[in-house]
Amino acid sequence: MRVRVLGCSGAIAKDCRTTSFLVDEDTLIDAGTGVGDLTLEEMRKVERVFLTHAHLDHVAALPLMVDAVAATRSSPLQIHALAGTIDALKTHIFNDIIWPDFTQIPSREAPFISFHEVTIGQTLRMGGKQIEVLPAIHTVPAAGFAVSAGQGCWVFSGDTERNPAFWCRLNQLDVAMLVIETAFSNRECDLARRSLHLSPQILATELDCINLDKHFPIYITHTKPAETELIMAEIQRFDQSQPLGRHVSHDIRWLRAGQSFEL
Ligand SMILES: [Zn+2]
Ligand SMILES: [Zn+2]
Repeated sequence: MRVRVLGCSGAIAKDCRTTSFLVDEDTLIDAGTGVGDLTLEEMRKVERVFLTHAHLDHVAALPLMVDAVAATRSSPLQIHALAGTIDALKTHIFNDIIWPDFTQIPSREAPFISFHEVTIGQTLRMGGKQIEVLPAIHTVPAAGFAVSAGQGCWVFSGDTERNPAFWCRLNQLDVAMLVIETAFSNRECDLARRSLHLSPQILATELDCINLDKHFPIYITHTKPAETELIMAEIQRFDQSQPLGRHVSHDIRWLRAGQSFEL
């Protein structure tokens, strides 16, 4: 299984794209502005999109991608998401005002997109992969995902604050790589708490929930372009300031768009 990072920034700027991952050629996890780096042919090969939640930085490119390639596809693009996410997309985006309702175009019988509700804890098998829907704690209905093709899992936290149920499940999985958000720096920890995102000091306590016998690389995502260096410095500092702490055993890296991982 191959995971390609299309976007992993918390906002846009030159060379900064928002959240989207391409798993093999056929599955997108989130559809932020990183999708815009795919060629038409690459977009055409995407069969399904799994959305963590409805926030714009995770869905912004979805309506535009459908418009770019749907007419040349022979089957609807499947959009898998929680019920609350699907409701939000239908009400606020594919509503014939912001963008056409592509569940009815070109016809109700053969539409460009189809919505498929998922629930937390559910495991789907499709495209030779197993995709488990993980819990997330955010301001709107939200999920994370664990994706595997039989080997270890690629785990993505989605947007989340403190999330005991996530760690409980993660400790049961064979994790090859964890991608976890840290959207804000410590100086913005109040904003992080209110918007239900992580900051480095909360990330430190969250990583303490990982069982000691678990070792896998941890990649930080969703940093704001203007704050990325500060956030990574603060994460390194908690690593170094607690040399006897449990965090030290963790292998923490900064995720970058354009990276590709074989799992
Ligand atoms: Zn969000
Ligand atoms: Zn986000």
